[in-house]
Amino acid sequence: MRGIVLRTTKLGESDLIVTLLGKDGSQVRLVAKGARKPQSTSSARLDLYSVVQVSCARGRSLDVARETRLVAANSHVKADIARSWCADPTMELLYRATQEALPHPALYPSTVAFLAALDAADERALPAIAAADLLKAISYLGFRPSFDRCVSCGRAVDVRGADAVAFSVLDGGVVCSNCRAHTNAVAEDANTVTWAQALLLSRFADIAANPPDYTSAFAVLGMVDRLVRAHLGFRLKSLGILFSCGLFA
Ligand SMILES: [Zn+2]
Repeated sequence: MRGIVLRTTKLGESDLIVTLLGKDGSQVRLVAKGARKPQSTSSARLDLYSVVQVSCARGRSLDVARETRLVAANSHVKADIARSWCADPTMELLYRATQEALPHPALYPSTVAFLAALDAADERALPAIAAADLLKAISYLGFRPSFDRCVSCGRAVDVRGADAVAFSVLDGGVVCSNCRAHTNAVAEDANTVTWAQALLLSRFADIAANPPDYTSAFAVLGMVDRLVRAHLGFRLKSLGILFSCGLFA
């Protein structure tokens, strides 16, 4: 099977449980026997952020990894704390929101592209790439926010030239002036909504070439935090680390 390593957990003296996002977007858990022994070659390949090709043998409860081939190491993401902190909210989201035998086909190619972009981009683009990928991932998981149509009536909402726009986290998007009174919408910075829409719809290469400033990127990350809490029911701890790390001031 091919997959992206989302998490590794110690098992016994020298083994690891490796959780991957499989090619169909479902979650796969494997045992890597002896992966924590110093002479093991599989441990380096089954690192967090690696894209791997693994051949497996049937085990008692979980399958056991045999041969592992590295497809993409994403070694910059592993070595550079700024990059890994920007990758971690996505890793945590996918670990918590995907399930075994529940495919989300768009998640895998999008996450491979995200890690490659994070590996190669200038530091100034990292938070924007992280925000873009989180918006894409929650959309592929079934919670696509609406930044240009009223979530209540479907009418087009034009945020150009506005300072603020009505936004409902619970309904997942912008609200038009007619519907505002009967929703729980609050005022959201129009710049944040405009950037959220652009990041959701843009390719990573275009974001890396023309990222928003840190303030705008972090405002979108804050919106993602509220959307994930409302629609998936949990808080991304690694997003909290990104907010408090002070690396992108
Ligand atoms: Zn409306």
